[in-house]
Parts: sequence; structure tokens; C-alpha cells
Amino acid sequence: MIRLFFFCLAFLGLMVASLFAQPIVDISPSVAWQGKVIEVKIPAAGITGVEGKFLGQKFKLYPQEDNFVGIIGVPTDQKPGNYNLRLIITQTDGKTIEQVEMLKVWPTKFPVTRYWLKPSRNKLRARNIIDNEWSEIEKVLLHESEKRLWSGQFALPVKGEKSQGFGQLQIINGKRSGSHKGVDLAVPIGTKVFAPNAGQVVFTQKLKAFGGTVVVDHGQGIHTLYFHLSKFAAEVGQDVKQGDLIAYSGNTGVSTGAHLHWGMSVHNLRVDPEQWVKYEM
Ligand SMILES: [Zn+2]
Repeated sequence: MIRLFFFCLAFLGLMVASLFAQPIVDISPSVAWQGKVIEVKIPAAGITGVEGKFLGQKFKLYPQEDNFVGIIGVPTDQKPGNYNLRLIITQTDGKTIEQVEMLKVWPTKFPVTRYWLKPSRNKLRARNIIDNEWSEIEKVLLHESEKRLWSGQFALPVKGEKSQGFGQLQIINGKRSGSHKGVDLAVPIGTKVFAPNAGQVVFTQKLKAFGGTVVVDHGQGIHTLYFHLSKFAAEVGQDVKQGDLIAYSGNTGVSTGAHLHWGMSVHNLRVDPEQWVKYEM
């Protein structure tokens, strides 16, 4: 009896020890919403590097004060359910351990919007035009610099009424189109567009489908995108801080009226920029 008691005690001790051997991972928010991001934080003590894997995406966690921090997005069409978040942790002793956390993907309600495009605008939606232009934009989105340039919450690039939210399912000229990859803010042509946070301008081009396009690199795989612009006010390579003028809004490309399309890209996945305005990342 006594022997069994000590055996149980030893077993319990082992279990507690193994629990404490694993670093405590802080995941915020605790559920992963479709179209939103989650932030993964792990104390840096005894660790030299961390890589994450979630929903088939690999991402790097970067040193940030006393932690390693990584941000990862959830595709809008990800099936709700439980998924593993895998963290590959390299310790100071050179050993690599894998830690698995279970995360719940929750559905986001995306409304359906129908709109009509004039034939002259609609023909700009040709697959080859969109594919060619997108592959140019994607080149800069795939570039991931080690340094975090942004800090705190993002500001809105323009003050305007939201005319279409992120992830809305679009029916254009009666045909089902893809989901909306950004937020549309209705503002008159020529409205000043300001950098929502610090970064570097990495793309300025007049495109047929996306119209006047600017991309700002905020570091560590985070980019913001601006479409349908009428004029640029910053050059490629220019460093910007929050509130700096980068462009003027317009109605160029595949657009039904004067507005700014504001997009957010996290490791080349489009997510809802509004989350970054409401919460600090
Ligand atoms: Zn849009």
C-alpha cells in the first residue's frame, strides 16, 4: 500500500515536471476567427529561435522584448473546427523540441454584396490581366524583412464610410466572384491617403485592374495595400511613419465609384485590416 502511494507520488511528480518543462504559449485571441489573425507569444528564456506551423502555413516568431512573437492569419474559407498549432522551438542547449497547441477556428459571418460594373470596367477583370498584375504585387508581399517597423495600433488611412467590409462574398454583374480581400472606404477622388503605421513604400504602379496601387512593408511579413488611387505621393524605398502622406484616393481600375480599397497581408495571406485598427498587435 505504502509502496503504491510512493509510486503514485513519483508519477505525479514526473507529470508536473514535464508540464513545467514546456514553455507557456500565449495565444491571442484564444480562438482563431476566419479572416482574422492570431498572435503567438512565447517567453524567450532558454530559447534561441521559434518557428510555427498553422493551417498549412509556416511562420517565424521574432524576438520582441522578453518574448518570441509571431502573427498568423486564418483564411476566410477555412473550415471551422479544431486545428493544431505546431511550434518548433530551438533551445539554447541546441536541442529542438516541438510543442503542439490546439486552436479552434470559428466562423465569421460574411454578408453577400451584389454590384454592377460597366462593360468598360468589367473587361478589366479578365483573368490574364488580374493574374499578371497580382503576380507583380505578390513579389513584394513574399518579401519578409526581419525588422518590425510598425508599433501599436494601426490608424485608418482615410476617414470615410465603410462601403464594403472584408471577406464579403461578391456577386458582380450577376455572377459569383471571389470574396472581398480588403475594406472599402468611400471617399471623394483626391482624398489624402496616410500611412496607417510606420513602414517602407515598396510598390507604386498604375495597374489596369487594381488601378493606382501602393504597397507598404511594415516588416516581419506584414504589408498594407492601397488600390484604385489617382496619384502617388511617395516613392519606392521611402520610409514612412504613421500619418505620412503616401497617395491620393481615386476611382481607377475595377471600381464602381470613388473609394479607397485598403488591404492587409500577413505572410502573403489577406486578412481584415480593421482588426489592426481596433487592437494592438
Ligand atoms: Zn475593395
